[in-house]
Amino acid sequence: MSFDIPEKPQWCPGCGNFPILLALKQALQELGKKPSETVIVSGVGCGSKIPHYIRTYGYEGIHGRPLPLAEGIKLANPNLLVIAIAGDGDGLSEGTQHFVHSARRNHDVNYFIQDNQLYALTTGQVSPTSMKGMKTKTTPQGNTVEPIKQIPMMLLLGASFVASTFAGDIPHMKEVMKKAILHKGFSFVNIYQPCVTWNSLNTYDWWRERTYKLEDAHHDVTDWQKAFEKAMEPYESNFTKFPIGVFYQVEKPSLYESKEWARTHPPVNVEKQDISGVLKEFM
Ligand code: SF4
Repeated sequence: MSFDIPEKPQWCPGCGNFPILLALKQALQELGKKPSETVIVSGVGCGSKIPHYIRTYGYEGIHGRPLPLAEGIKLANPNLLVIAIAGDGDGLSEGTQHFVHSARRNHDVNYFIQDNQLYALTTGQVSPTSMKGMKTKTTPQGNTVEPIKQIPMMLLLGASFVASTFAGDIPHMKEVMKKAILHKGFSFVNIYQPCVTWNSLNTYDWWRERTYKLEDAHHDVTDWQKAFEKAMEPYESNFTKFPIGVFYQVEKPSLYESKEWARTHPPVNVEKQDISGVLKEFM
């Protein structure tokens, strides 16, 4: 089933959001997902417009908060596929406190970070993933702070699926997204995404020269220690090597699947609830 809609994305020509959107549509289509059973939640940012450009249910929330919305939707109706999308500023600055607990609790939602190493919608300010020395509007002399280590952090927090991919490689993105969607539990995917307007450092060519596929390196996704070593490689190689692919995947019960939680918090069936009183109150 097609996830296309007539709405044309309002992104700069060449923006990494175009291939991300395409890979996401292809992943959903190839997995046989239905638009009516899929919800995409975003925060604020250029890429957070994705729910406008894809035929699913969608919700563009407030800055840094797609995860609590996504978790609420999934807990209310566990039959839905729920994907939260956020930029690096949105998700790894304002949203930091949320991903810590999403990973720890193993909520059964997908979290895709569009990591373009700065705040793009607000015209190019330093973000948590900006490289040290990077000149932005808010760091004209160069960023003095080391970037956040979001992939190693996810492993330390106990995320049950941790991966990365690159917006310049649509087939790879699609396959990683499919694996994340099929995974039961919290799935984190960091997508390295060029912003062609504000980031002249981390370009498509810059990423192509530095990324390599974990699949080609015969990485064992069940080995947490090896996954952590691979996740630290960008920082230990002085940002010359960025492994992409699945770092780690383990099966463990999601929050909802834990027997105690399911017994005390039955799923909400909105179709069987009389909400006329609530509607009257707000109309
Ligand atoms: Fe894409 Fe950057 Fe343009 Fe935003 S500013 S649409 S991230 S290229």
